[in-house]
Amino acid sequence: MSAQQETGTATAHRVVILGAGYAGMAAAIQLAARVKRREDVQVTLVNAQERFTERMRLHMTATGQQLAELSIPHLLEGRGAQFVRGWVTAVDADAKTVRIDDDRVLPYDTLVYGLGGVADTSAVPGAEDHAYTLSSAQDAELLADRLARLGSGTVVVAGSGLTGIEAAAEIAERHPELNVVLLGRQEPGVAMNSKAKAYLHAALDRLGVQVRVGVEVVKVLPDAVELAGGESIAADAVLWTSGTRVSPLAAAAGLAVDGHGRIVTDAALRSVSHPEVYAIGDAAAIRQGYGVMHGTCQGGMPTGVQAALSIDRVLRGRQPKPFRFGYYHTPVSLGRGDAVVQFTRPDDSPRRICLTGRMAVRYKETVTASPWPTYSRMKKMPASGAFWPRGGRFTRIRRAQ
Ligand SMILES: Cc1cc2nc3c(=O)[nH]c(=O)nc-3n(C[C@H](O)[C@H](O)[C@H](O)COP(=O)(O)OP(=O)(O)OC[C@H]3O[C@@H](n4cnc5c(N)ncnc54)[C@H](O)[C@@H]3O)c2cc1C
Repeated sequence: MSAQQETGTATAHRVVILGAGYAGMAAAIQLAARVKRREDVQVTLVNAQERFTERMRLHMTATGQQLAELSIPHLLEGRGAQFVRGWVTAVDADAKTVRIDDDRVLPYDTLVYGLGGVADTSAVPGAEDHAYTLSSAQDAELLADRLARLGSGTVVVAGSGLTGIEAAAEIAERHPELNVVLLGRQEPGVAMNSKAKAYLHAALDRLGVQVRVGVEVVKVLPDAVELAGGESIAADAVLWTSGTRVSPLAAAAGLAVDGHGRIVTDAALRSVSHPEVYAIGDAAAIRQGYGVMHGTCQGGMPTGVQAALSIDRVLRGRQPKPFRFGYYHTPVSLGRGDAVVQFTRPDDSPRRICLTGRMAVRYKETVTASPWPTYSRMKKMPASGAFWPRGGRFTRIRRAQ
């Protein structure tokens, strides 16, 4: 199939969306719903798999729990958007083309870049070769397989951020026969208020997770991790959750990126170097009044919707509006039977209010399950996707900055 056949007629405006994660799906569904009656606009979504990866549930996959089969092409049906399954290997920002699996080329007029991020296993020697990650469903399944076969032993979870906490709790709950050691620089829940933090620590303690903070993992070996200072901790499996890195494709294409390789955007989420490229989700460096957004689903989905709204406006000869987003919560699962939810100010600092126990479990599950029904709703009523907290004074960028 030629590139032209894949993307439609030569006269249509071709919008290619890379990555069908939380942000890319939001962009594709929102845009496809808005331009469904326009024959002069072609929307194409490219993703490595047909099955939607519920990234927020990958610690469940890593402990052998089966997730729902969510089909991306099935959800796109009836809105005229095309789905291309494949691995993006290059973006040519001058020729305005995307290379897929090295042999297919998709031309674009507007590109939406939403390839997300993965665990940064380049951070220390040995992590790439010996550590497991929650970067994809396949990676999580590899860990599930290893844990199921262990019988006894020690699992080291490197990284005491939210992904590390959720994974350590889930492994400890599902595999009480294993010792789970959570290692990190900072205490778990460092950004929470004292009540939420104390609850989280007590839950990890109850589950038998050994927490060691103020430590720096400097090497991952086949059967241990080495700490700064020379101590080594024996490990039958190591899960690496410390830090994320993004695909090098954007930098290789000559797009302006920040120190983490994320595409630097203007207020309308367009690349500052290539305005025909929109960047969304974890792959984008988006500045708000409080600083550059960090990768979350709660912020990622609005970026996808906003990119779609902006593209629709530009196609109608109007100017895109500035994007504003304020955080509102940090929900953390502690196994299947417990959780803690820290409500936040728009700049992600903790409020006094938090939920714990069963209420928190219900809240967390509602949040985690919400993206797919949200996409289904947006397909019929695109305006329903456009509600998120704008963050008031916290997100306003002063001219002098
Ligand atoms: C265990 C875990 C729990 C989390 N819990 C929460 C939470 O409770 N709340 C929250 O807000 N956030 C949470 N997050 C973070 C959240 O999952 C991410 O911020 C979110 O997934 C980012 O969305 P995205 O669309 O930018 O990227 P992703 O969801 O990572 O999607 C990127 C997509 O691009 C595809 N892709 C990547 N490279 C290529 C390529 N070269 N070619 C083709 N396809 C490609 C991937 O396969 C994927 O489908 C959690 C993350 C993890 C790992």
